[in-house]
Amino acid sequence: MSQPRIDALRKAPVEPFQHLIDGRSVPASDGGVTTVVSPIDGSRLTTYARGTVADAEAAIAAARRAFDDGRWSGLAPAARKKILLKWADLIEAQAVDLAVLGVRENGTEIGMALKAEPLSAAATVRYYAEAIDKLAGEIAPTDPAFLGLVHREPAGVVGAIVPWNFPLMIGAWKFGPALAAGCTVVLKPAETASLTLVRVAQLGLEAGLPAGVLNVVTGEGPVVGAAIAASMDVDVLVFTGSGATGRRLLEAAARSNLKRVYLELGGKSPNIVFADAPDLDEAAKVSAMGIFRNSGQVCIAGSRILVERSVHAAFVEKLAAQAAAIRVGDPLDSTTQAGAVNSLRQLQQNLRFVAEAREAGRTVIGGARIREETGGFYMEPAIVEARPEDRVFREEVFGPVVTVTPFDTEAEAVALANGTSYGLAAAVWTGNLSRAHRMVRKIRAGLVHVNTYGGSDLTVPLGGVKQSGNGHDKSLHAFDKYLNLKTAWVKL
Ligand code: ADP
Repeated sequence: MSQPRIDALRKAPVEPFQHLIDGRSVPASDGGVTTVVSPIDGSRLTTYARGTVADAEAAIAAARRAFDDGRWSGLAPAARKKILLKWADLIEAQAVDLAVLGVRENGTEIGMALKAEPLSAAATVRYYAEAIDKLAGEIAPTDPAFLGLVHREPAGVVGAIVPWNFPLMIGAWKFGPALAAGCTVVLKPAETASLTLVRVAQLGLEAGLPAGVLNVVTGEGPVVGAAIAASMDVDVLVFTGSGATGRRLLEAAARSNLKRVYLELGGKSPNIVFADAPDLDEAAKVSAMGIFRNSGQVCIAGSRILVERSVHAAFVEKLAAQAAAIRVGDPLDSTTQAGAVNSLRQLQQNLRFVAEAREAGRTVIGGARIREETGGFYMEPAIVEARPEDRVFREEVFGPVVTVTPFDTEAEAVALANGTSYGLAAAVWTGNLSRAHRMVRKIRAGLVHVNTYGGSDLTVPLGGVKQSGNGHDKSLHAFDKYLNLKTAWVKL
């Protein structure tokens, strides 16, 4: 990645963005637009169409027509594969432009954004494209007087509502398998990370996705997102975001057509460091990146570190040194390790958690707003020595704020780890093989790391238990959401 190329793009004017509905760029039905503020310096970047209920309905109607007439679902899987592979190549060819545009909108450090956003989206589209013509149905082992065929059919129109932290990566985790499976999609990006998804969808058209197969409607969650959730014509709703919104989506599904709803709702993931960790320095280093990259705006962030008491003080010292060494700064500088916080609202929320911990008398290292003179939204990493009753120990901050809490026994570590309504991710650092596997079994989470944090690839599923959600993104299991099983029972 070349810094001069990034610098050439960083100030390039950005044209106003519109919806992509039925293969056409269209404005909001009432002409409304939303101003995009760059978290890098608080400046006005561009505008996008502020979607109305009518816009959402037009996109759903287009997706419905495109699904029902078979222009996509009726193609041979290998034909869909060909178009999707071409699309992945186009995304990859535009990766730097897409990454810079995304960073200007959401503040993620460019090094991470490039890999985690366009390149990951291209890899995801490619993975599901390559898989779809290798998935077969089943012939059931029935009484020989009958033939039981199990077909896997595309589920229909998919509504996908995605967040702002990794719009392309998380977006592709939804539309990648959905489109490969033959579904059509109405995508609703988050208010503060919309532009790259519109551009990627336009590349899809260029690659040969028929009109109406992938529609993007930008705008506010309670308007556009709510209309998708309430629609009688959306068959499957997939979502990554907050628990409060997740509950609304389930309610809307219950009140409308009982659409299937798959939720990924974040976490308060425990990262457990035992005294017998193979390398405490490595544990501190990886744990720091496991919470502070992308300013902590990562669903699986290891935001609750639990440390065995005998190494607690030593670990906190090492973690603090790692945190202090993280280069927080201009997200378009390729040496930056943590960029800007996505929005002023999120920054203020992060700072409130830190202030509250200080007021309660907890030791807090770091956690100040910095680089205010740039006009942007920056914060130094914060380490809070928290107790289980503290709000910062229980609630998801979604910022660069980690709690550290000591424990004495394995049983206490398990109790602290599981004492949360969430269950998305976790980690265990130990050199004891039996303990590692014991902990994997005992921790209630969808992903348990051992002697590492983050970095799992597309081949393994990601999903939560408890109030972190249901269903899985990534891996071949993601197809389950977008394919219906149908039985043909034939008398021979
Ligand atoms: P966060 O607080 O992290 O922004 P949200 O759950 O509010 O999390 O946002 C995630 C996504 O959900 C965004 O695309 C947002 O626009 C959308 N959203 C927010 N409120 C609603 C709602 N009432 N109905 C449907 N979607 C919504």
